[in-house]
Amino acid sequence: MQRYISLQATPDALARCRDNQAAASVQEYFIEVGNLASGAPVGIPVVMAKGAHEGPCLWINGQVHGDEINGMVAALRFVRELPLNELQGSVIVTPTANPHAFDARRKRTPLDDLDLDQSFPGHDAGLATQRLAAALTTAMAGCADALVSFHTMGPAFDCEPFAVFKQAPAHAGVSESDVLRLLAHFEPGCACLMPLELRAGELPGHLAGALDYWMLEAGKPAFMIELGAGGRLDNRHVAKGVQGLKGMAGALGLFPGASAGAAPASLVRVNRYQHVTCASGGLFERLAEPDTELRSGQAYGRIMDLYGRVTETLSFSTPARLIGIRRDPVVHSGDRVAFVAHEWEKAVV
Ligand SMILES: [Zn+2]
Repeated sequence: MQRYISLQATPDALARCRDNQAAASVQEYFIEVGNLASGAPVGIPVVMAKGAHEGPCLWINGQVHGDEINGMVAALRFVRELPLNELQGSVIVTPTANPHAFDARRKRTPLDDLDLDQSFPGHDAGLATQRLAAALTTAMAGCADALVSFHTMGPAFDCEPFAVFKQAPAHAGVSESDVLRLLAHFEPGCACLMPLELRAGELPGHLAGALDYWMLEAGKPAFMIELGAGGRLDNRHVAKGVQGLKGMAGALGLFPGASAGAAPASLVRVNRYQHVTCASGGLFERLAEPDTELRSGQAYGRIMDLYGRVTETLSFSTPARLIGIRRDPVVHSGDRVAFVAHEWEKAVV
């Protein structure tokens, strides 16, 4: 028996589904996007929890990159544990926005090698990735009041959970403090401001094509939580994600009776960061742990060649904050070895 309701990605499709859904219930949907050559349906699964009373809508997207697992697990655990009779509003979980990449355990869509998080709002007559993006944005348009877009660092890294947020366009009316107040509930090690212009040390890509930016443009607070690293399920990070979702739901007013857990009053706001690459190929050995501060000149890693000689020792000439560091020791010239903050400050939220 099919448990979910299949729906076409027409404008406001999910808002209408919510109107028709019984109060205090959870319903599963499937946004149709097409099919594989074999005929297997391609689409985006949706879990919608509707509370006993009307109220705001929190949207949680579990992954846009197919090898990032912790966020989708946190989202699904959270939505399945919701006390529906106390819920005032709704929670929508899209565990994966990119089923092609998820099935292939890859960051990008294997069919066209595009990055879904650079493809929003998408094209309904475009490539496979653009069709996924268009289906999701069409079905979700006007439906949610805030978005958490879960990510992780790549499988080659280790990190503690942190947040990344973008500046909303001026016309959108979303202030930075709106965003910081919500993301603080995840107690991130830091919150990195991601500029839209490409700069040295940033990964190449069209950042205005991100899912959270699409929501910001619509005037809704949205941000990314990097919930650990990819290619694995880390229950410690998942639990932190669930806790953050509970706090954020409370702050949005989804549980008016309960006292919303207090978010930290301040967080580390990172204004300048860098993806660091190595010059030498060989074996990378880490000398420092994520979420630690590095003194000027302190080595955080070194590279040994296959003759046993240290060919490169990595450090910075000014103090830095190590956010993520490589765990996969095999590196080529130009591989990423660390993600670091160079300018940060304490921000009151
Ligand atoms: Zn990602």
